[in-house]
Amino acid sequence: MRRSFWIDTLPARDPHAPLDGALDADLCIVGGGYTGLWAAAYAKSLDPDRDIVLLEATRCGTGASGRNGGFLQSSLTHGIGNGLSRFPDEIEQLERLGLENFRALAGDLERLAIDAEFEPTGDLIVALEPRELADLEEEAELLRRFGHDAELLDREQVRAEVNSPMYLGGLWTRTGSALVHAGKLGDGLRAAAAGDGVRIHEYSPVRALRRTAAGVSVVTDGGVVDARRVLLATSAYPPLLRAIGRYIAPVYDYVLATEPLGERMREAIGWAGRQGISDIGNQFHYYRLTADWRIVWGGYDAVYRYGGPVGPQLDDHEPTFATLSQHFFATFPQLEGLRFSHRWGGAIDTCSRFSVFFGTALGGRVAYALGYTGLGVGASRFGARVALDLLDGRESEATALTIVRRRPVPFPPEPLRTGVIQLTRNRLAAADRNDGRRGIWLRTLDRMGLGFDS
Ligand SMILES: Cc1cc2nc3c(=O)[nH]c(=O)nc-3n(C[C@H](O)[C@H](O)[C@H](O)COP(=O)(O)OP(=O)(O)OC[C@H]3O[C@@H](n4cnc5c(N)ncnc54)[C@H](O)[C@@H]3O)c2cc1C
Repeated sequence: MRRSFWIDTLPARDPHAPLDGALDADLCIVGGGYTGLWAAAYAKSLDPDRDIVLLEATRCGTGASGRNGGFLQSSLTHGIGNGLSRFPDEIEQLERLGLENFRALAGDLERLAIDAEFEPTGDLIVALEPRELADLEEEAELLRRFGHDAELLDREQVRAEVNSPMYLGGLWTRTGSALVHAGKLGDGLRAAAAGDGVRIHEYSPVRALRRTAAGVSVVTDGGVVDARRVLLATSAYPPLLRAIGRYIAPVYDYVLATEPLGERMREAIGWAGRQGISDIGNQFHYYRLTADWRIVWGGYDAVYRYGGPVGPQLDDHEPTFATLSQHFFATFPQLEGLRFSHRWGGAIDTCSRFSVFFGTALGGRVAYALGYTGLGVGASRFGARVALDLLDGRESEATALTIVRRRPVPFPPEPLRTGVIQLTRNRLAAADRNDGRRGIWLRTLDRMGLGFDS
């Protein structure tokens, strides 16, 4: 397994012991990423005496939650544009709930004393092609309509922020967007859960769920948890309920991190505002600085493999690392000679509407939240809370929304699934090469509310 920069720079911690034997619990959470850990924090905040067991297949926070770019965004819908097209009647509410979640998350970091290197830098979207300048204007208008502070930058202004000869324009959004150290966020939530009395068992992959008279038996190799309620937070990993597999396609995203930039390179690049950056094409890169002035650079290729396997053997993908490296030096030629200290990959829980979905199973004893499709650092806190509300039968503003009540259109089964996804990826790349024009296949998917993204 390739270790991400974030995991590699965490202080060493002893693992929690694997489950060994039989336990009873009021609530069993499966999966110790952000979703599972936020669910534990929320459950304890509602009722400190609630008896909670969390089972994690490996180490908490080493799935997508330990491998992402650390872009913390308020959007719950993978951007306002996507939210507007899929939930036109609810987008005002979703945007407001997203901003509330974003602010509350920042507040929780303080309250729980989690130093996740939170930096409210805002983010910069850059145009690399002349036609993309109009896309930036459209995006700026949309963001402002929903109350965001979004400033368009021309070629000189954007290059004054960050010096790349590729940039033709930019859009700097200063609200609802920050950066975090992905690993420290997970590590802090793990420590907070243990401190709250959540019984965490790591290296305890759950093999099966069995309905019982009073609840659900959660079975691992070494034991069983008899729980009244179960919350599944297993993201892109093989699902424990067959129904989930129809909606999720695990898509691998790959990332590089450089060695720290020396003073000369820092001067050559600027970037004093330290914004998170992405380009606006369909196949996009995302990149940002770390506290010690490395550049974390990921995205572009989104790799789906037949059958949707997930595992450590897929953390390496030389062809994508080579593409990322080539694009990195095209963007920042003045950094020639800089080396990459880390390279890694991670699985994204892609669904056809690009935003979290929910469900319950086994007579309401089990609930789940997944499908963030590459934008879950902030949304996972919202997803965790909604899933727990569904499990406990608590009504809230969110539980009444279509995003919670309706699931995405399922992907077709294999082998059709691979065919459809590869064709869509191929057409998205063609649109990038072809002045952004969406051909008949993409327009058909648009009309059906279907898509593929990361
Ligand atoms: C490379 C990459 C870059 C990304 N960049 C960003 C970004 O910049 N901004 C953003 O908002 N989002 C980003 N994301 C998405 C974001 O990381 C996720 O949406 C978020 O971490 C999801 O958290 P989670 O807890 O639902 O999933 P995970 O962190 O994947 O956690 C799921 C956990 O469940 C465990 N598990 C699975 N099955 C079992 C089982 N049977 N028994 C026990 N445990 C099990 C796994 O081991 C894992 O720890 C990125 C994702 C990737 C992969």
